[in-house]
Order: sequence, then structure tokens, then C-alpha cells
Amino acid sequence: MKRLVIIGAGPGGYEVAIEASKEDLEIILIDKHELGGTCLNYGCIPTKTLYKSAEVIKNIKTGEKFGVKGNFELDLKQVMANKDEVVAGLKKGIEFLLNKGNVRIVQGEAKFVSKTSVEVNGEIIEGDYFLVATGSVPRMLNIPGVDSDIVVTSKEMLELEEVPKKLTVIGGGVVGVELASIYNYFGSEVTIVEFQKHLLGMFDEDISKRIKPALKKQGINIVTNAACKEIKGNEVIYDLKGKEVSVEADLVLMSTGRAPYYDNLGLVGIGVEFDRAGITVDDNFKTNVDNIFAVGDCIGGMMLAHTATYQSYKVLDQILGKENKTDFDMVPGCVFTFPEIASIGLTKAQAKAKYENVDVIKSMYSANGKANAMGEDGFVQLIVVDDFIVGASILGYSASTIIHEIALLIGSGKSLSNFRDVIFAHPTLSEVLAHAIRH
Ligand code: FAD
Repeated sequence: MKRLVIIGAGPGGYEVAIEASKEDLEIILIDKHELGGTCLNYGCIPTKTLYKSAEVIKNIKTGEKFGVKGNFELDLKQVMANKDEVVAGLKKGIEFLLNKGNVRIVQGEAKFVSKTSVEVNGEIIEGDYFLVATGSVPRMLNIPGVDSDIVVTSKEMLELEEVPKKLTVIGGGVVGVELASIYNYFGSEVTIVEFQKHLLGMFDEDISKRIKPALKKQGINIVTNAACKEIKGNEVIYDLKGKEVSVEADLVLMSTGRAPYYDNLGLVGIGVEFDRAGITVDDNFKTNVDNIFAVGDCIGGMMLAHTATYQSYKVLDQILGKENKTDFDMVPGCVFTFPEIASIGLTKAQAKAKYENVDVIKSMYSANGKANAMGEDGFVQLIVVDDFIVGASILGYSASTIIHEIALLIGSGKSLSNFRDVIFAHPTLSEVLAHAIRH
């Protein structure tokens, strides 16, 4: 039986270990920390658990419109205890499935000692195939004061014992805006300082333009086009159009992106190529060494949990000699702010740069019965070329659900008009999409 050795038990490692255990393969899964990786322990799941607490507060705060008045008291200890319970429960589930599949779990740091073996805790583990899924680490700005006690990363934000009175978030990407929204509902006075013109600059400009007023309405201060220069005492100093400005902070969240992580793996010794962007792989996630593959955050690109997982499934299919048609140009991405954001495929600008006849179809939540009943606003935008969806963006309640309805339309390989007679139930938010389809 061939042996697959997986280094890293995040979503790029553990999901495929479970899948591979159903095949005629021996699986060893190595992690130096905990099962679930960043996603389960310090990323997707803890943030979404805190998001739920923030949503409860939002509902109480906006209850008056719906005829419900009430006060609330935040118990941060319970917020964190709930998060820990959710994480622990999911971890147990993963462990159960790995054990059920006879996956050998090794806790320790793996280092390649040859192209066909790694060393962990002094043990040499041989393998026929290796999958590297070692994730990423926060990128820190190289500015004076970055080592100060008040500077934290997203990881510490998920373990705070007190809500900071004044929180400054450096970097208005996904992690920054999500934690800014959450802690603002928890009671922090939040300022986001972003270098670029817009928050969430990687999204369609209709999203990045509209998220700023939405977050401002929530009560978050936002400074864009601002270059952070220094953290001095309790001041975050930044340059705004040539002027030096500062904002006071009890806590500073550094959320300026993440860097692929492959330290101490011994890649140089066995000749696996990498650069600042990550471990170098081909379209099949194979490194330049034949039996060694790499997926997820450690190869850079779209750093998302599901990207890591689907890349690893593609690797498994190659090992098994199966066909795999995953389209990595169509990866949905979601942002859990209030309201939610979701996108897939090309933005308007990207589509216009690539194609001549680009149709932009926009359907508004304001014309939707359910959205009105819920007091929710937003839009669904489809980017269409020759009747085929090449991209979509959503801002609004349940964006993270509706985007998958669009993903299925795209995945069907059929043009948009094929769906015009599909019945959507009333009153639902999905009807916003139905209107876009029948535009
Ligand atoms: P990781 O999950 O980082 O796992 C890598 C594992 O490798 C770690 O457990 C590490 O201990 C182990 N490791 C490293 N080196 C070695 C070694 N030499 N030997 C043994 N083990 C090693 N993505 C989403 O899709 N949705 C979200 O909502 C979302 N929210 C996020 C929120 C935050 C705050 C953060 C930080 C990230 C979020 N992400 C989200 C991103 C997501 O967490 C990552 O894209 C995902 O975890 C990457 O999976 P991975 O398997 O590549 O790496």
C-alpha cells in the first residue's frame, strides 16, 4: 500500500486525510500544533462564533424598529467560552473521522531529510507522496513600535479577556473589517486605517465603495489612503496626504495580510523551489520534486480554507489517477461584516479588461419583500458575457448563502437563460437572484 504523508492539519491537510483514508492508501497526518490549523483554531470558526455574538447585539440594538426594546450586557468570558466549546466540538469530530479512517496522527514539527522522508520528534517517516499544507503567518508592517505590547494579530483578538476601549485596526482587508465590525458591536471605539483608496480593495468596486458607508453607519471610523508610520505609546501615527495624523488606541490589530509559511521544513535541502509568494507549484499543485505537492496558504494566492481543501482534493485525485475538473477561477469568497459580502469569479473591471460584451445585471434588496420585512438592504450583481455568468458580487444579508446558488448556476455550465423558468419561493432573499436571472 502506498503511503501519503501530509504535513499540516489545517483544511488543506485534514480534509484530504479523511478523504484519502477511504482509498487504498496509508495516511500519516503531521501537525506541530492542533488539528484544524488556523481555520479551526484561530481563523474561520472562532471569528464566526464571535460574529454570532455581535449579531445578537446588533439585533438587540436594532430591535426597536421591530417593536422589541431591550438592554444587553456583554459577557466576554462567555463569548470566548462559547467559541472554545464550538472549536473543541468540531475538533473532536475531525479526530473521530481521522481515527475512523485509521489515519495516523503525529504531533510534531516535520522536516524533510530527503525527497522521500521527513523527521518528526526524532522519528524518520518515509512516504511515497508528500502533501505540504503548512499554512501562513500574519504579515507585520515593518514600522517603529510594531513590537509594542498593544499590538496584536487576529489570533490574540480571539482570546481577549477585556474589550478594548479604543481599537485601531491597521489594514482594511477581510480579517481587519470582520474583527472591526465584531469588536465595534462589543463596545470598542474602532478606527480602521487602510493604505489603499478603498477597504476590501480586491472586491468589485461596488462592494468596496459601499462597505465604507455601511461600516461608518455602524459607528466605525475609517481612514483610507493612509500610510501607518509608527506606533508610539498609545498613538498610531499615519501619513494622510502628506500630513502626519494620529489616532489613540488601547489595542492595535495588525491585519496587513498573511505570508506563506514554510520555515524549518528543510525545503532547501531537498531542492523544493519557493519564493516570497509561496512554495512554487504547477497547475496540479505539484512542486518541482515529483512526489511532493503543496496546497493552501503556503503556496500563496487566494488564502481561503476551501481553496486549500479543494486543491488538496485535486492532489488526491492525481495520486489516484482520477480526473479532476475543479475550476479554481470560480472560488467563492465571503466576508462576514454587517451586511455580509460574497463574490465569485471576475469583478466588473476584470471582466471588462478581458471581454468586449460585458453585461452587468444588478438586482436590489430594496425591491425584495423579504429583505424589506427584515429591514435589510443590498444587491446581487451578475457579470455576464454572452449569456454566461463570469462573475458575481453580493452585498447583503445571507450573501454567503446566495453566492452558492450562483456557484451552482456557473458549475452547471449552462447559460443564464436556461434558468429563467426555475421557480424561486416567495418571499425569500433568493428572489433577488431570481430577478437578476429574469432581468
Ligand atoms: P492552516 O490552516 O494554517 O494549517 C497549517 C497547519 O500546518 C497548522 O496547523 C500548523 O501548525 C502546521 N504546520 C506548519 N508547519 C509545520 C511543520 N513543519 N510540521 C508540522 N506541522 C506544521 N478562510 C475562509 O475560507 N473563510 C473564513 O471565514 C476565514 N476566516 C479567517 C479569519 C482569520 C482571523 C484568519 C487568520 C484566517 C481566516 N481564513 C478564512 C483563512 C483560513 O484560515 C486559511 O486560508 C486556511 O486555514 C488555510 O488552510 P491551510 O491548511 O493551508 O493552513
